[in-house]
Amino acid sequence: MLHFFYGVMGSSKTAQLLMQRYNYQQLGLKVALIKPAVDTRAGQNLVFSRVGLQAEAELVLEPAHSVREQLLWLAARQAYSDFQYVFVDEAQFLSEEQVQELADLADDLEIFCYGLKIDFRGQFFPGSAALLRLASDIQEVAGALCWCGRKATMNTRVDQQGRVIKEGEQVLIDNQQRIRYIGLCYQHWRKGMSHA
Ligand SMILES: [Zn+2]
Repeated sequence: MLHFFYGVMGSSKTAQLLMQRYNYQQLGLKVALIKPAVDTRAGQNLVFSRVGLQAEAELVLEPAHSVREQLLWLAARQAYSDFQYVFVDEAQFLSEEQVQELADLADDLEIFCYGLKIDFRGQFFPGSAALLRLASDIQEVAGALCWCGRKATMNTRVDQQGRVIKEGEQVLIDNQQRIRYIGLCYQHWRKGMSHA
């Protein structure tokens, strides 16, 4: 089955992913951890959660990669006949084709994708749109709060001074920390207010 767990920045999606993966590993089950290549925030292979949990991804998917081929390669390298469980972090960065592949592979696998639903402009990521179309199980990772105390539902790009940025490329990851992402409630996202 293909699962999509979506949430805003700060909803501890990655921490949940890593804890769930650990639970399967404890049972001795075969688990693969993969991520799309576009996220270089914490090193190419690292799956990093802001509460401190981290793990190395076994596969880093380039946009042109076939997920099926990459999983076969990984299974061969690790002397597994196959995987039973696949975890995907930052799944919003998957291509539409890769999500389609995952949906087809999910006949035989449990595939858990974690990611953002929308970008800082309030638009779908192509990967998330495909996951919302094709996943059999869709769940929200709630818990993130706006500074006002309301539920955070909107991803927001802010500059160093905390000013809300509403325009620009969909994917912009800045390792120099000139921009960062926070979760806001809809009202404060719409008004561009990143603080009181
Ligand atoms: Zn708010």
